[in-house]
Amino acid sequence: MTANFPVLPGVDHQARNVPLDAHLHTDQSPDSTVHIDVYAAQAVERGIPEIAITDHVDFDPRDPAFEYTRYEDRERTVRDAAERWAGKGVVIRFGAELTYNRRWEADVRAHVARYRYDYVIGSVHDWPESPYWPSRVRSFVQGRSLEEILEPYYAEIIAAARSGLFDTIGHLDVVKRYLHPMITAEQLAERPDLQEPALQAIIESGVVLEVNSSGLRYPGAETYPSAAVVARYRQLGGERVVVGSDAHSRASFAARLEESYRHLTAAGFEALTFRRGAERVLIDVPRGTPDSTVDALHT
Ligand SMILES: [Zn+2]
Ligand SMILES: [Zn+2]
Repeated sequence: MTANFPVLPGVDHQARNVPLDAHLHTDQSPDSTVHIDVYAAQAVERGIPEIAITDHVDFDPRDPAFEYTRYEDRERTVRDAAERWAGKGVVIRFGAELTYNRRWEADVRAHVARYRYDYVIGSVHDWPESPYWPSRVRSFVQGRSLEEILEPYYAEIIAAARSGLFDTIGHLDVVKRYLHPMITAEQLAERPDLQEPALQAIIESGVVLEVNSSGLRYPGAETYPSAAVVARYRQLGGERVVVGSDAHSRASFAARLEESYRHLTAAGFEALTFRRGAERVLIDVPRGTPDSTVDALHT
């Protein structure tokens, strides 16, 4: 705690024992308006000692974060903030969330080779030709088996894991959100076999699985991936996990991140796997993460 920064209204003081939020979007993402200092102040207030700023980078010119910012500007903004906040209770890492698809894998590879981040998330988002696009998902789902419906998403996840380009696979199973309400989280939970090739690819490649709490703010109200999938990943031999709130707003900073931590504890994980530039680290998962007192949060 420090007296140097204003106490933010609405910030809860219960969220101790959250050592890291590794997925945050600032006003350098097209879908966020949050200044980096807002998250830093919240982290200090809530006793979260380390955060990673992971603004979007897209590679298809039709996607919103295509050339939205320059790398140099993002790096300077985050590094300057890290200096401003050094010694004040929060360490700020410079990361990115790169949108992966096989169609532009060569561009992602060139980006990762050229630029230096502390930490890189690879995420599969809805892509312009995808069958999950809002205008076509309903007709795509009609008359298809669950296996056929999920195949395009998991094919990209498997390729992302095998690409070797990323520290972490972001928000696995976000496809639930694209399929809602035609396909429910319950229906997907009944077919864990359909996810296993993706979990196996993640395990075999050594990439880290993120447990992203943003799904708790959407219909289905589950983390991405769900607690059951986290447990299955562990059973299959998965060892590397990390957590992130994927906040795009002040209200969703570290929101319900304790639930992600609890899923890890329940599955038997004792440490997060994270990268701080050249340094790969394990961070202890705290025992007895308290219940979240924050509810009704929206991005
Ligand atoms: Zn994402
Ligand atoms: Zn994100």
